[in-house]
Amino acid sequence: MQLDNFLPEQVCDLIDTLNRLPSVGRRSAQRLAFFILKEDLELSKEIADALLNAKTKTLFCDICFNLSSQTECKLCQSGKRIANKICVVEGVLDLIAIERAGVYDGLYHVLHGVLSPLDGVTPKHLRINELTSRIQDLNTAGDQVELILATPTTPEGDATNIYISQMLKDFNLNITKLASGLPHGGILDYADELTLKNAFTDRKNY
Ligand code: ZN
Repeated sequence: MQLDNFLPEQVCDLIDTLNRLPSVGRRSAQRLAFFILKEDLELSKEIADALLNAKTKTLFCDICFNLSSQTECKLCQSGKRIANKICVVEGVLDLIAIERAGVYDGLYHVLHGVLSPLDGVTPKHLRINELTSRIQDLNTAGDQVELILATPTTPEGDATNIYISQMLKDFNLNITKLASGLPHGGILDYADELTLKNAFTDRKNY
């Protein structure tokens, strides 16, 4: 069915654009488009402003690579977190899931992916060198580091953990890994808060 046979080109463009978003199929894109068109112009302006603002005014934290509007993110700036305790996560969604569970008092390191050579993701695409220098700086300052691996329970997540622990083997640090019980292969975002709390409490030496 060709929508442009009976709908204006602008509406078809809107549907096509929404359809490019993850988890938004063709039917959902149509529903969203017709909802937006039915509502006041104000809503469209607010959505457009929010999109542009978030996109143009957000960068990655210089320290942990969380999203931030400044060079350092709110967590790194807070001064309330234990600076030599670093939880390594695949993405910002995982950080959000851990913060939601409210069990963690350290800082993060967001890799922005996990190793997947078949998909062309190699160490240079991840923030692993930055993690190494971060730990080096802490060690130089006399701090032992606790590193918590919270990457996904997938072959790629496991390979990433092995690579990281090899890279860091000469540093003064203690590496732990979240306990099992997390959904296999899922990002932490899908884990319920209790499971995540238990995974943190029962973490094992790596
Ligand atoms: Zn940060």
